[in-house]
Amino acid sequence: MKVIVIGGGAAGFFAAINIAEKHPDYEVTILEKSSKILQKVRVSGGGRCNVTNARAKPSELVHFYPRGQKKLHSLFKRFTTADMVEWLEKRRVKTKAEEDLRLFPITDSSQTVIDCFEKEAKKHGVNVINNCALKSLKFTAGKWNLETTQSTMDANKVVVATGSSSAMWNLLKETGLEITDIVPSLFTFNIKDERIKDLQGISFTEAQVKIAGSKLDESGPLLITHWGLSGPAILKLSSWGAYELGANNYHFDILVNFTGTLKPDEFSMHLSQYKEANPKRKVVNYPLFDLPKRFWERITAYCEIGPGTPFGELSKKQANKLVEELCQGKYEVTGKSTFKDEFVTAGGVDLNEINLDTFECKRFPGLYLAGEVLNIDALTGGFNFQACWSGGWVISENINE
Ligand SMILES: Cc1cc2nc3c(=O)[nH]c(=O)nc-3n(C[C@H](O)[C@H](O)[C@H](O)COP(=O)(O)OP(=O)(O)OC[C@H]3O[C@@H](n4cnc5c(N)ncnc54)[C@H](O)[C@@H]3O)c2cc1C
Repeated sequence: MKVIVIGGGAAGFFAAINIAEKHPDYEVTILEKSSKILQKVRVSGGGRCNVTNARAKPSELVHFYPRGQKKLHSLFKRFTTADMVEWLEKRRVKTKAEEDLRLFPITDSSQTVIDCFEKEAKKHGVNVINNCALKSLKFTAGKWNLETTQSTMDANKVVVATGSSSAMWNLLKETGLEITDIVPSLFTFNIKDERIKDLQGISFTEAQVKIAGSKLDESGPLLITHWGLSGPAILKLSSWGAYELGANNYHFDILVNFTGTLKPDEFSMHLSQYKEANPKRKVVNYPLFDLPKRFWERITAYCEIGPGTPFGELSKKQANKLVEELCQGKYEVTGKSTFKDEFVTAGGVDLNEINLDTFECKRFPGLYLAGEVLNIDALTGGFNFQACWSGGWVISENINE
């Protein structure tokens, strides 16, 4: 049987090597548009490749996929993060978990993963054709007919794993497949504001960020950058709010609680007690709740608290302003930027088009889809790759005669 995989990225390559390993009698070929395979794996995780995550329970994993969610439960039951770790270990790639549960190869190099995949491809006879893009795909006389930039070819089964390629989405749309709206996800917020100007590099271990007038609300570490705000709390918001924020043309207000979970009245109470206990201490020198000193200085100045003002002399107006700025600081977002160039696309082939047990197209038996070409995307943490590994694996298990 002849299997052609379109796209030599994460999902396509992983599907191809597993198909070839399970079916030594199949002829498996990868067609890759560019001159190199696994390009995104190479640059992933800042060159370290955040290959998957230490969370392994399918019921827990699905919460990291704004597009996919519960529909992916059965997929992760078949091949979860722990299975990927085992798959790599069996091929002598050891992984390590960071404190936040992201998993990396112990070498801290994406090249280790690429070398492993290339070795497996060679071992199982996967044929890779570079500089070969699919131009059209038709099913005639019981076979798939592929027109590529190099030649035409036939296949019994085709796996499409072309990532976020608009040309491929257009081609798939022409075949009649439903493609959902495509928008960027995993971006940071552009904010021009004197309260954070020139404070890049300052971070908060746990902040809460809400989109004003919306239900979008996330918490986690927050980072001031030279263009605005970034960090896990912002990236999570950008992912869950990918469509809503896009519809607002990335122009909206956010409310930031720099203390994390403290409510304004709780902060107020703490401030009153601190005032009573330390009336002579100068406000500017004693950041409450371990807030970063430079940020505290900036915010106290913004609240018109003079550098010589002691806690005992804080006026009610100054205290209220301080509480508001730290628990509900309002910032205007005027655009988006990418985070370390790590972004994914929300949207793609509608999941209703595929059988989620096999990743085979319902309308076109013999056509399989995996990776970002589908309407699946996740928060940062190795979850995007995991969707590729799981999809590729499930296809390899089900692509039978
Ligand atoms: C800079 C960066 C860093 C990232 N880091 C991480 C990380 O550490 N962990 C994580 O989980 N996720 C990470 N991601 C997300 C992750 O890379 C993607 O989710 C993942 O690569 C998607 O895999 P894929 O196989 O679907 O698509 P891709 O990896 O993009 O592969 C698609 C392939 O198809 C080829 N192709 C397209 N059209 C055609 C055609 N017509 N014919 C033939 N070939 C075609 C493309 O050239 C490409 O090689 C990162 C993303 C970026 C941009």
